[in-house]
Amino acid sequence: MVIKRLKGTAWIAYEDGRGVLIDAGLKAQSKLMKRKLDKLDIDLQYILMTHTHYDHTGATEQIRAATGAKVVVGAAEAECLKCGHTDVPRGTNAFWRMIGNAGHDVDPKHIEHYTPVKGDVVLIEAHTSLEIGSELIEAIPLGAHSVGSVGYRIDEHIFVGDVVFGIAHVVYPWFADFEEDIEAAWGAIIESGAKYIYPGHGRRLSVEYLRRKRDERYKSNSKKESKNV
Ligand SMILES: [Zn+2]
Ligand SMILES: [Zn+2]
Repeated sequence: MVIKRLKGTAWIAYEDGRGVLIDAGLKAQSKLMKRKLDKLDIDLQYILMTHTHYDHTGATEQIRAATGAKVVVGAAEAECLKCGHTDVPRGTNAFWRMIGNAGHDVDPKHIEHYTPVKGDVVLIEAHTSLEIGSELIEAIPLGAHSVGSVGYRIDEHIFVGDVVFGIAHVVYPWFADFEEDIEAAWGAIIESGAKYIYPGHGRRLSVEYLRRKRDERYKSNSKKESKNV
């Protein structure tokens, strides 16, 4: 299985001429992404949406229309995908809240809109397996970053969108609608059986690295709490 960053938030995974795209970057990147896909000359079977924020859905419809790939999305965000609009979540610290608010004040419509997806979409409501050749794709609902965030595991690789970041030493997402669910979502990724994590933003991480980061963040908190009790 070859796995590469296509452009922006988009990853491409393929083997024996068949492939899946995971997320689809910004609208402004769609022509370049289409050119790169054409060069790879693969039969694109699915566009797996980890969630529907504008920076992940920019070229979804353009690539679907060009390739005939089926679009897969968390059921709770299917309506967003059909409308071409998903609210951007709150920042998880003061700095990103300020940036988020500034974005909303400037031009929320422009930022949060993308081309609506036409055609049928495959909805993920619970753990589901999709087949691609001899390979299985396990869809794992994660939530936390957005109501319909989904992780997709293919063999030892898991694509997680913005539930995990991979920017320098930062793994904690800068934005989340349900911050209180991040620990459980990280737990589901750690228990998924994957070894490598592919975030929407940043570099590939090992599951072991996320386990250490989770333990640092949450186990030390629970120790502090138990001391207080
Ligand atoms: Zn996002
Ligand atoms: Zn993102």
